[in-house]
Amino acid sequence: MPSARRLALLALAAATLAGPAWAAPHNLIIFVADGLRSGIVTPETAPALAELRDTGVDLRNSHSVFPTVTTVNASVLATGRAVGQTGDFGNNLYVGEKLPAPYGVAVAGLEENTVLGLMNDRFGGDYLGHRSLLQAARAKGYATASIGKLGPVAIQDVTARDGKGTLIIDDATGWSEDALPLPDDLIAEIKAAKLPVKAPDRGLNAWGGAYNMPGVQVANVDQQAWFAAVATQVLLPRFKAKGAPFAMVFWSRDPDGTQHAQGDSLNTLTPGINGPTSMAAIRNASNDLAALRKALQDLGLEADTDIVVVADHGFSTLSRQSKTSFAARHTYPDVVPGYLPQGFLAIDLAEGLKLPLMDAAGLPIEVDKGFYPKKGALIGADPAKPQIAVAMNGGSDLIYLPQGADPTLAQRIVSLLVAEDYTGGIFVRDDLGPIPGTAPFSAVGLTGDARTPHPAIVVSFASSHEGCDKPELCAVLVSDADQQQGQGTHGSASRQDTHNFMAAIGPDFRAHWVDPAPVANADIPVTLASVLGFDLGPGPFAGRILREALKNGADPSAATRTTTPSPPAANGFVTVLQRQSYDGAQYLDAGGAPGKVIGPTQ
Ligand SMILES: [Zn+2]
Repeated sequence: MPSARRLALLALAAATLAGPAWAAPHNLIIFVADGLRSGIVTPETAPALAELRDTGVDLRNSHSVFPTVTTVNASVLATGRAVGQTGDFGNNLYVGEKLPAPYGVAVAGLEENTVLGLMNDRFGGDYLGHRSLLQAARAKGYATASIGKLGPVAIQDVTARDGKGTLIIDDATGWSEDALPLPDDLIAEIKAAKLPVKAPDRGLNAWGGAYNMPGVQVANVDQQAWFAAVATQVLLPRFKAKGAPFAMVFWSRDPDGTQHAQGDSLNTLTPGINGPTSMAAIRNASNDLAALRKALQDLGLEADTDIVVVADHGFSTLSRQSKTSFAARHTYPDVVPGYLPQGFLAIDLAEGLKLPLMDAAGLPIEVDKGFYPKKGALIGADPAKPQIAVAMNGGSDLIYLPQGADPTLAQRIVSLLVAEDYTGGIFVRDDLGPIPGTAPFSAVGLTGDARTPHPAIVVSFASSHEGCDKPELCAVLVSDADQQQGQGTHGSASRQDTHNFMAAIGPDFRAHWVDPAPVANADIPVTLASVLGFDLGPGPFAGRILREALKNGADPSAATRTTTPSPPAANGFVTVLQRQSYDGAQYLDAGGAPGKVIGPTQ
């Protein structure tokens, strides 16, 4: 029989094995490589990204959340909630009443700090309505910062706008418009590091060309070098000097910005986003990650810092072609004849329903005079009471019914959409359906307690592939965007857009391990909050804790894969959902009609 003294010693040994109670809390860096495809990362294309993935946890069965655009996934990465809970349904959202001057439009573009402030003002002081990981980290005594791409950076702590909480450093920092304030001592530290206190602009990387002129041929190197320098020479030393743990999000605009704007492939589908300029952007993101890891090493912080690398979404090469669209039969001064203009879906709906078409300010759009709507459109006889609003989001469009739930109008819209060759998949709010040919919002995470107006229909555009034998890496996507054919886009429910890059390394993660289980952006904050002891508030959450990826974690079990076709529309159109479920969480691989969607290949 063991003595009481021996039992006490055993208890002490067990406590030591579990980790001493006085251990310093771990730090956290979330590195977002915007628009980085899972399969494009190799030791040759992106050495630092590949090295982290191959020595840490390789999260290769990864998922962006649909719609696969930046602010949607920024909201999910921030909160761990479903899109139907955060209300960030797109980069461009219909918001009802027009925004005040100088905007004057009913569609808000969320990649602007001023607009995010207006969103908070309108929707209960916090348009997301759910606590974020950085907010929870702050509550736990962490020093917090979010640095990089304008828009998603501020969304990580969207109510921190006075410089006193999370430090927000982005494209607007130091400029006269749209900048959020920083504390004086931080500005002094930036100066002391001999860095400019104003973010560089994107320079030659910013201009995407035109229908007859190629876009950029340089990556976003200079601007991101400044973000990396501020992070490595100012923020990390500042955190270390404070002696408090830290949580930092670093959002690399590359490769997204460069892939959108690259001039490698004007009006041709190859090489598309696989040309030299896109590859330079992928390497640029990799180099910034390398700089952050080097600084952690130099400062002696590496052993105590978890790093999660994630892309908000994957990527596609843009197609402007349609044989069925009414909009493509008109001519526009800045569109290749026969190609789709931006706003084609709104133009086609207005024509099909024989209703007037307006821009997002409510002004008439005369398509036969060469005009087309951009970012958003209103449809109906009364600009103050549109029957339909459309928010354009590249590879998907959001359709709203501002006058209330009207299943008959929703059915008429769907009957027009299923006849268009550019329609890949259709998703309909549950209270408007079921409608043949469509899948319900509840199957793809678009239902919940969102404070912003809920769309009625989300359309994912059609995908194909061209130029290589790996459909995900050379996918072509019709897109309601302002870029040219051959440039880059994303936003669809096809696998090339849902398959984002994901990996993790650090004291809380396994090493040299491939996770076979499905994972998604919503899992990241839920997992990190669990590991680091942050409180994200009461559930439900869309994400799960990635237990199998953690040090001493459970063995993974098998995911359940399902293929669920919708009932067919009258012309046979179906939206097929290809999903995985694992440990109570749902993962959308792809959703769309056979032949118009790139499905999972693993
Ligand atoms: Zn993008």
